[in-house]
Amino acid sequence: MPELPEVQTITMDLDELTTGRTILEVAVIYDRIVASETSRFSQLLIGAAIKKVSRLGKWILFNLNGPAGPTFLLTHLKMTGQFVLGPWSMADSWPPHIQAAFLLDPPLAAGPALLYYDIRKFGRLRAFDSAELATFLTELKLGPDPLTVLPEEFHRRVTAKKGRLKGVLLDQTIVAGFGNIYVDESLFAARLSPLRSASSLTRAETGRLLIEARRIFVTAIRERGSTTSNYHGLKGGGTYQLQHQVYGRAGNSCPVCGAVITRFIVGGRSTHICLICQGGKQ
Ligand SMILES: [Zn+2]
Repeated sequence: MPELPEVQTITMDLDELTTGRTILEVAVIYDRIVASETSRFSQLLIGAAIKKVSRLGKWILFNLNGPAGPTFLLTHLKMTGQFVLGPWSMADSWPPHIQAAFLLDPPLAAGPALLYYDIRKFGRLRAFDSAELATFLTELKLGPDPLTVLPEEFHRRVTAKKGRLKGVLLDQTIVAGFGNIYVDESLFAARLSPLRSASSLTRAETGRLLIEARRIFVTAIRERGSTTSNYHGLKGGGTYQLQHQVYGRAGNSCPVCGAVITRFIVGGRSTHICLICQGGKQ
């Protein structure tokens, strides 16, 4: 699943390639991919000009100028969602796994259509006016972004929560953007066990965690994210997976102390740690 650096990369690609273009036509190939009111989806988007594409946690928000005023296309890619550019097709002749398509004007060199591709079909697209977007975001309760949250607020939010540190960081209402890869990498860099009770962290520990997480996020964005099986930026994949210290490295030696990296399950999620550097399973 794409996390903050991968979603940021996709967002920057979409912003660069689609801003200033108008959506001429909308095709919804798999109905359930649209989670807002279906009849309004095309109505809101056809004729809308893309003003900016931005990231909210792991969500992508298209800001549009619609025929009836400000309009928004909000999407979460979940497990296997991707945006790609390609040809516009006639009904029933779309390539496999294309779930929705947007015909853009002027057309791009790579094709006139922005295609939403999703093998497992867990991703969702929603179109809103300003009031509907505000209501949806209020209900979503996304926490602040780890790139901009103040250290005091980060400390307050993380330590106010009962539960293990890893689960708290994955909770998008606490802070929005972490997923499994970057939690494991950040906790290793900050020398913190994923099994620590979140409320037991000192101000120095949450400060160190935020500094390390930011350093990792910024580096990973520069590398266009980590390319795993289902991530694809519109302008290519990323290379940050080559810098992973613990994630996906179980059985290899810790780059700091040389001990063997351990993999186990925390809250249903595969977790990678150095028991020596991160203080064991406690
Ligand atoms: Zn170690």
